[in-house]
Amino acid sequence: MSETSPKLRAELEGIPTYKPGRPAAAGGPVAYKLSSNENPYPPLPGVLETVTAAAGAFNRYPDMACTELMSELAERFAVPVSHVATGTGSVGVAQQLIQATSGPGDEVIYAWRSFEAYPIITQISGATSVKVPLTPGDVHDLDAMADAITDRTRLIFVCNPNNPTGTAVRRAELERFLDRVPGDALVVLDEAYREFVRDSEVPDGVALYRDRPNVCVLRTFSKAYGLAGLRVGFAIAHEPVAAALRKTAVPFGVSQLAQDAAVASLRAEDALLGRVGSLVSERSRVVDGLRGQGWTVPETQANFVWLRLGERTADFAAVCERAGVVVRPFPGEGVRVTVGETEANDVFLKAAEVFR
Ligand code: PMP
Repeated sequence: MSETSPKLRAELEGIPTYKPGRPAAAGGPVAYKLSSNENPYPPLPGVLETVTAAAGAFNRYPDMACTELMSELAERFAVPVSHVATGTGSVGVAQQLIQATSGPGDEVIYAWRSFEAYPIITQISGATSVKVPLTPGDVHDLDAMADAITDRTRLIFVCNPNNPTGTAVRRAELERFLDRVPGDALVVLDEAYREFVRDSEVPDGVALYRDRPNVCVLRTFSKAYGLAGLRVGFAIAHEPVAAALRKTAVPFGVSQLAQDAAVASLRAEDALLGRVGSLVSERSRVVDGLRGQGWTVPETQANFVWLRLGERTADFAAVCERAGVVVRPFPGEGVRVTVGETEANDVFLKAAEVFR
């Protein structure tokens, strides 16, 4: 924290120090976790009951084929069941996708900065990461990504909206990009935050995949559906890709608890929409509040905001921590802050104001 800011120090003295761990410890200072883009709401209606009912059968293995979840997803997205594959979180499915397509000598293209798992899972496969910098406005540079394609390119991740910047690519530019990708390279549209998108120009990947055999859409129950702790994600892709995913799946990788909770969540659509709507309103409030304080905030379509802070990143994260919100610092670059419950967002806005 800056030695030269007595005002900041004085303000911080007045904020009680929080203890890391679970939020809202009885009587003590409250700590809000805004560092992992989780959903602040508890599970959707019906989910806890369903999961409690399943608890009596923990001595049994889960349904390896995720039959009920697969058919529920197929119906929801109006796709054949053979085009669906489930996995241990969408990061698990992404890892399977790399495993199924890429190895030493192959290249995997993605924007940078983007989801931290991409370099890790690419390295595990032995393939080479080709990182294409975001534009100065923190958006995917799809022309540069298309230029980066070689005959060794097997996989291209397009994180839409992008983690950690929240920015999203629009239909026309994404379609132009997809037209430039050769048929033997697979484009993964990672739509972990799709439910929070409000810009109607940002395309739904499921609409794009239908007539493009080399497009695969990744979705998760971890964000809007609030099941991060249960680890379930899925892909929608044409038969050969979906079949390869099923072949590379960890046997019994999606627990029965996760399967049942995901099905119950899909059936609680109205409550889901209400909660996502509230979070989207809170997002606008946070973005407007930050801009009102003079911050530059990229347009976000996800459940988080991105602040470019450069060398001030660690100081900013420390101020937030002191105030009682845990944010996600990317050292030397910026912080990503999840949009949480109203009180958490208020504490964050106060910390941002104090820092400024
Ligand atoms: N993709 C993106 C862009 C993400 O931000 C995340 C979670 N941080 C994931 C995938 C993975 O989510 P999960 O494995 O929980 O489904």
